[in-house]
Amino acid sequence: MIYFLAAILALAFSARWNWWRKKTEGVSILMYHKIGTPPAGSKLKKLWVSGAKFDKQMSYLKRGGYEVVTFKDIAGGTVKDGRKKVIITFDDGYRNNYTEAFRILKKYGFRAVFYVVSSTIGKKNLWHDADVEEPLEMMAPEEIRKMASAGMEIGGHTVSHKNLDRIDDAEAEREISENKDDLEKLTGEKMLSFSYPYGGYNANVKKIAEIAGYRYAVVIKQGKNAFPFADNFALKRLLVRSEETIFDFYLNLSRGRNRL
Ligand SMILES: [Zn+2]
Repeated sequence: MIYFLAAILALAFSARWNWWRKKTEGVSILMYHKIGTPPAGSKLKKLWVSGAKFDKQMSYLKRGGYEVVTFKDIAGGTVKDGRKKVIITFDDGYRNNYTEAFRILKKYGFRAVFYVVSSTIGKKNLWHDADVEEPLEMMAPEEIRKMASAGMEIGGHTVSHKNLDRIDDAEAEREISENKDDLEKLTGEKMLSFSYPYGGYNANVKKIAEIAGYRYAVVIKQGKNAFPFADNFALKRLLVRSEETIFDFYLNLSRGRNRL
């Protein structure tokens, strides 16, 4: 009976923490959204990582000898292989990225990439269903500028957070190009990478992003990216969920996933 229970526990552990997966090579692109404490009644709690936990994860990267790079480094040719290379990304442009994440990133000397929805800058994330979570404040123009001048990379995430796989090409073109122009005007920097809202894209959308002048685009698909990249416009990411432990973080970075 004891052996049977032990076997069940071992199986449950191995399903939740996939230690048995083979280690994979490649660039790990971490995906974050919100740093801090979720508002009361939020049904999106798993997308919130506390400041303390984010700090611990950054400390783990530092101590573990990971090299945090950005798309600028990759475009500039200074990244020669995928070994222990990490890109830190944030989707949407929430104000807590500035008030919480920015401070912690600076503490470790790390740069990250922030994907900003241009029509909501200095406003709230009104594309979200308020029944799922109350509207959140988004970064103000001067906050985005401050981050960019401190070496943080800003990237595109459309004008109004539309699923690009569900609109026609002309509208997708507008959503991508106007967002890029506005962010370039705001920061004085050239936008290099783009994040598809809801991870929605298709062959046409990829082409539109490339024609707009982007060099890279990230998707919502779990995994690491062998380097050099096979497809610059469909780069996989590692979602960091609120409840995850440092062991999950390690499994993600070494194996490209941590659970079934
Ligand atoms: Zn988004």
